[in-house]
Amino acid sequence: MAGADTEQALLERARELIAAARSVTVLTGAGVSTDSGIPDFRGPQGVWTTNPAAERIWTFENYRDDEEVRRAAWQERVAHPMWTARPGAAHEALVRLERSGKLLALLTQNIDELHQTAGSSPDSVLELHGTNHHTVCLTCGAVTPMAEALDRVRAGEDDPRCPSCGGILKATTIMFGEMLDVEVLRRARDAALGCDVFLAVGTSLGVHPAAGLVDFASMAGADVIIVNAEPTPYDAVASVVLRGGISEVLPEVLRL
Ligand code: NAD
Repeated sequence: MAGADTEQALLERARELIAAARSVTVLTGAGVSTDSGIPDFRGPQGVWTTNPAAERIWTFENYRDDEEVRRAAWQERVAHPMWTARPGAAHEALVRLERSGKLLALLTQNIDELHQTAGSSPDSVLELHGTNHHTVCLTCGAVTPMAEALDRVRAGEDDPRCPSCGGILKATTIMFGEMLDVEVLRRARDAALGCDVFLAVGTSLGVHPAAGLVDFASMAGADVIIVNAEPTPYDAVASVVLRGGISEVLPEVLRL
């Protein structure tokens, strides 16, 4: 009972902070999409947790240099639940936050575009790790829809090449070993530095530089609110930490 009281008090504190804030910056991670059927990486059912070898496929050098790795990656991509996933209660709650006028920026580590599908404005969403919905050619830089490459894999190609120059295609995501887009990171830092409340949702806060955005917000004086089922390395700097399922907790936090 005492635990339930504490949870309720924390929820109310989080609500008060958001109600009093003029600007809220949100950082989302894979946990906002697990209830849409997309597994995270480091949660109990995460891709890395259940199969640590999977990381090899998503390391840039391995992907570029090893045709076998690319073949395995294309098979994973074509079978990914992302292509049929629908936004959930957490994505929708964040659309409402934007409509309230308080959202400064929605920084996401996700590559599934579910925030935009839910109705978040593409101008507000900063995709720190890119998107899985396009491919880029490693030789000529041509960007083409992922759907076209997936159709070619379904038709029997195991390592589809650039339609313009024959170069290697990869998703427009940031793989391990790649740098984040400098301009996206600059805008994300500005949004972390410029908010009153920094809300981190569904992220283990274990991947840098994205996780370090919490430091920028905290050092600039923002209240940090963390909503995540498991502990994160940043819980100690947070004003409020809320555990529990994101689809249940986040709409409550954002009931303005
Ligand atoms: P992560 O897997 O490291 O952490 C996810 C966290 O969310 C975990 O701590 C887990 O306990 C928590 N969580 C999961 N479902 C939850 C729920 N329903 N309620 C409450 N908590 C829940 O993910 P990350 O921090 O985003 O970093 C991993 C990287 O994974 C990012 O680079 C991202 O690009 C990539 N990724 C993206 C997707 C996607 O686009 N949906 C999916 C998997 C991985």
